[in-house]
Amino acid sequence: MIDDVSRNPALLKLDLYCRGIRLGGGCRVTQDGGREIMRTRAGLGSGLEVILPGGLYTNIPVTESFAADSPYELIRDSGGGYVIHLDGRAVAPVRLAPRPEWYGQRTATGKKMSMVGSLQGTYLAIYPARVCDYWLEKPAKTNCKFCSVGLNLGCDDADEKSVADVLETVGAAVRENRITYVDFNTGHYAGDTYLDLLEPFIRAVKREYGLMIGVQTPPHHDLSRYKELRKMGVNRVSFCFEIWDRARFAEICPGKNREYGLDRYLEAIEYCSRIFNTTNGEIVAGLEPPEKSIEAIDWITSVGAVPTVCVFRPLIGTDYEHLPPPNAGELVPVLRRMYEACMERGLMIGVAPNVKVSLVLLPEEGRYFTDNPSRFFLTRARHALLRPVFAAALKARLV
Ligand code: SF4
Repeated sequence: MIDDVSRNPALLKLDLYCRGIRLGGGCRVTQDGGREIMRTRAGLGSGLEVILPGGLYTNIPVTESFAADSPYELIRDSGGGYVIHLDGRAVAPVRLAPRPEWYGQRTATGKKMSMVGSLQGTYLAIYPARVCDYWLEKPAKTNCKFCSVGLNLGCDDADEKSVADVLETVGAAVRENRITYVDFNTGHYAGDTYLDLLEPFIRAVKREYGLMIGVQTPPHHDLSRYKELRKMGVNRVSFCFEIWDRARFAEICPGKNREYGLDRYLEAIEYCSRIFNTTNGEIVAGLEPPEKSIEAIDWITSVGAVPTVCVFRPLIGTDYEHLPPPNAGELVPVLRRMYEACMERGLMIGVAPNVKVSLVLLPEEGRYFTDNPSRFFLTRARHALLRPVFAAALKARLV
């Protein structure tokens, strides 16, 4: 079952990240209520949002050149349903992730709400500030080589977003999509100003809507700022160090290496894992050997943090556009380890209500790769008990 994409939706999700999909001639994604393909995906993804069997949300590459050679094809049947075919054989019925009505609405200042925030799976992602400074450096940019953020802003994303713009957009997503979680993301800004920029947005969203809030920024030099964030109601922080191998880290992320260094990322993860409900250490698999990604996962979980494992995607226009995507078979042990390491340490995964993520395989989705799921029976039972408790606490604004 582990090896069969028609019976293992997580393997299908992974293989689609790596091989992309072709859209059959009859597909009418936007006319059928699906989301248009936006490049605004935190610099990592840019594809078609669908819901796989098992309720797994995903974002499948379609515009990158490798997708044109994919053995996968999306077929629209005569009844308007969609089915994924592999080498001409139907392997999975899928649903288009519905396009929110509010994508077409504007805020009071005239901004298109889809330019203020976008649904990634079932949560709202907002990149509220200007483009990451690494993209603007002269004479040479020092952006991360896989990143597309500097290509995105201004096309699918509004440059300046006010607190009022964000509140209106969050409100629309709460009403229509019943979102429970908002994720704020920034790049690097000289002078470590990213938390100063985010704090008014965080306070306003927490006050107005009581949602779970996540923050993804570089690691601030003053770690006590994270205690302040926790007091403000931030539930999750995420630090993207991307690469575990130090030489590869310096090569792939020259700006991060110069400004912070890998050790500052690790120090922040360790510090924050003692403060927040969830602290994530984020890596990109497929740009270093799988053993290195597994070492990173083992370190992240050893300090009580949860790994986020992105799959490298050679996005159009990026420095790594020319590289091949990774091979799914080589990444299966990484994703298996992601799940098993979390379960071995009893970390809280999969308990937040209505948080489905399209751009990465969630740690709990890694269960589809484990050979012996019953091994973690007790931890899974504990997670099942915690889910309604967590949902009730969120409703009562206690998280
Ligand atoms: S820090 Fe790197 S990954 Fe993040 S926005 Fe800047 S260039 Fe992109």
